[in-house]
Amino acid sequence: MSRPRKKNSITPSVATIRVTHKYRAYPTVLQEYTIENWLFILCSVYNHAIEERAEGYKNTGETISYSAQQNALPVLRKADPALRKVHSQVLQDCLQRVDKAYQKFFEDLKQKKAGAKIKVGYPRRKKLEKYRSLTYPQVWMKSKDRLTENIKIRSGEDRRSALVILPGIGGMNIRVHRAVDWRNAKTVTLKREASGAWYICVSVEKELVPTVSDNGKTTGVDVGLHKAVATSDGNFAEHPKFINKAERRLRKAQKVLSRREKGSANYQKQKGILARRHERVANRRRDFLHKLSLWLVLSYSYIAFEKLNIAAMVKNPHLAKAILDAGWGSLIRLTSYKSVMLRGNEVVRVNPAYTTQECSKCGARVPKTLTERIHKCPQCGLVLDRDTNAANVIEERAFGSSTVGRDLPEPTVLAVNACGDGTSAASASAVSLVVDPGSPDYNVASAFSRG
Ligand SMILES: [Zn+2]
Repeated sequence: MSRPRKKNSITPSVATIRVTHKYRAYPTVLQEYTIENWLFILCSVYNHAIEERAEGYKNTGETISYSAQQNALPVLRKADPALRKVHSQVLQDCLQRVDKAYQKFFEDLKQKKAGAKIKVGYPRRKKLEKYRSLTYPQVWMKSKDRLTENIKIRSGEDRRSALVILPGIGGMNIRVHRAVDWRNAKTVTLKREASGAWYICVSVEKELVPTVSDNGKTTGVDVGLHKAVATSDGNFAEHPKFINKAERRLRKAQKVLSRREKGSANYQKQKGILARRHERVANRRRDFLHKLSLWLVLSYSYIAFEKLNIAAMVKNPHLAKAILDAGWGSLIRLTSYKSVMLRGNEVVRVNPAYTTQECSKCGARVPKTLTERIHKCPQCGLVLDRDTNAANVIEERAFGSSTVGRDLPEPTVLAVNACGDGTSAASASAVSLVVDPGSPDYNVASAFSRG
């Protein structure tokens, strides 16, 4: 059994991290018209660029590079008035996306040749419905040794709103649910969700300055279908009920849609309702996972998860939906970046083999079915909640020691408050989700800062 005992740390003074914050945006009808127009043009540029590369490869056996395609842009813009309508950097970003798709393809191909079991997909044309976003790759521009704003931002009439001035589109109101760190903003992406709602995603470069002091606590985290997460010291979080409720409504909307005549006005209307419900479920789940991951990072200095092969698990037809829903991949990703950002520690991932069977006290293998909720070890007599036991095995593998054998505090249920939807079931001793007031990153929308 491999036991990486080292606790990984990152030197905070040099490292930076990119985070993206999503703000609800409210374009005017005219702006919406312009953006849709741009998206139409960008989508066709994207598809042309894909085809050009495929053709080029067929004819010469060589791939056309990004720079070659980018250099051709000015000439194309001269020839085609439609292209002149779109901001030049936004067009360049469109070609960057093509390049990224190709780079991923070549990388996958290389891995497959090296023996990795992955599916390799050749970059394909995109349908207009799937081409939903455009990116300004540069918020700040350097000219004559000083930075000037390529995209400007102005505080709105109240502190909860702001005006983002996008070249070629104009000023657009956004809702500032959290402070915008404009000085460190790198790119701005304008995006339309399937529900029709618009968002502005601001990607920000942050320096890694750990703001949460080390409490020396280590934990293993078991993710599961029964409980969302269980930690090795007996804390756990249930799957939130509000998501189940939203999902039931989603299924209902889906059923209604299937009864509608395809293409009819009622069908279109129902499709809109379904898209909005989908987005609602996604928003709520993301909200829950953000809070849960923050709670984990604020509670424990060193966190370990299992290395899960989500792609392989999803193939299991019975568990598929549940696994996808639980959003484990997301949880691990969110916890990882928050841990690095707030504590300067990397999350450890351990070998998942037999974590549910192994006894966390003596190491004996105790096979159990999915319905057995308690781990009872015939070797050493340990009786422990199944998921808590697994969390301890994970902690042991990551950090070389586990909580088992120490005096455990009364187990607590983590209560995560969802926006206005009541709380999930919680015991009297529930750990409420407290956001560290000292951390500027999580001081929600208290100030509108432009640095
Ligand atoms: Zn045992």
